[in-house]
Amino acid sequence: MEIIRDMFTERDQNCILNMQVEEGLDRDVVYWSKENTCVYSVKSAYNLLQVMKGYVVPGDDESIWRKLWKIKAPPKALNMVWRALSNNLPTIVQLRGKQVQVNQICPICQEYDETILHSIISCKFASSCRTIVFAGYRMGEHNSFANWFNTVLSSGSQTTKEEIGSVCWLIWRARNKFVWNRKATSVNRVVQLKAAQVMSTSALLQPGYVGDGAVIWVKPQRDTIKVTVDAAVFEDREEVAIGLVARDYTGDLVHAHTRVFKVRSRVQMRSPSGQVIESCRRILRRRNNIVLHFINRSTNNVAHQLARVAYLYPDRNFDRESIPIEVMNCIVGDCYN
Ligand SMILES: [Zn+2]
Repeated sequence: MEIIRDMFTERDQNCILNMQVEEGLDRDVVYWSKENTCVYSVKSAYNLLQVMKGYVVPGDDESIWRKLWKIKAPPKALNMVWRALSNNLPTIVQLRGKQVQVNQICPICQEYDETILHSIISCKFASSCRTIVFAGYRMGEHNSFANWFNTVLSSGSQTTKEEIGSVCWLIWRARNKFVWNRKATSVNRVVQLKAAQVMSTSALLQPGYVGDGAVIWVKPQRDTIKVTVDAAVFEDREEVAIGLVARDYTGDLVHAHTRVFKVRSRVQMRSPSGQVIESCRRILRRRNNIVLHFINRSTNNVAHQLARVAYLYPDRNFDRESIPIEVMNCIVGDCYN
């Protein structure tokens, strides 16, 4: 009691003296709070040290990982951010940490050590890219990449949150191009690439999109025929096959066709790619009621299946009665997805 009165202010003395002490506990116990079992482990101590240095470790802050995987960005961009957050992005300082003897000055600005934070965030090149892409959003000062990334995810606008993964990846890609190929990328080029990537990502993530980049097959409009084409290569048979499927607005098969070419046949092909493309152009010029789109494999399942089995039915025409059953199953599947 004397000690408490000597050492603490009146407010703290009252707090301490009002604390309920559990009866029956006769001595204090030392325990390790970083494990559920309260028993010390090297892994949890390592994770604690990483957190103290400002890095994020798996299991420490689950919410950042959940937020990361929700970002709408290409998987390669999310993978790069994940490596940066886990302190595993191979910057020069990281390589030095693994006993690789290299000069650790940033190869781009030649001014500071190339840490993960520096190469993606604070290097002049990186910060110019971000300033243009996220004009008006102040990033502030941060002591680690994880700290910075967490702040962006909690306080950035919806657009900033959605695009931040792609921007980090483009900055890292520009850095790699410079280090490995000695090719410099301009800030404007990064900004252009970012715009293109955001467009293609949103097209990929939008289910049922009917034009370029569609990811699921959708029925064409009434009075329109949709034709899908795919090719398959049969290496062991030295053959290339093409499957072509025409379907109406109900999703029903109108016509299907296969064509098989011998890759190393001595017979000269009458339609090498250049001529095929030129005749397509001629047809398109003559008719203005045909529209061409690039679509994803997931949208093109029927033509893909037909091309895969084309070697069994080379150079054939099909209707609803004669179409191979595995292809018919895909046609029905498309109508119910
Ligand atoms: Zn730099």
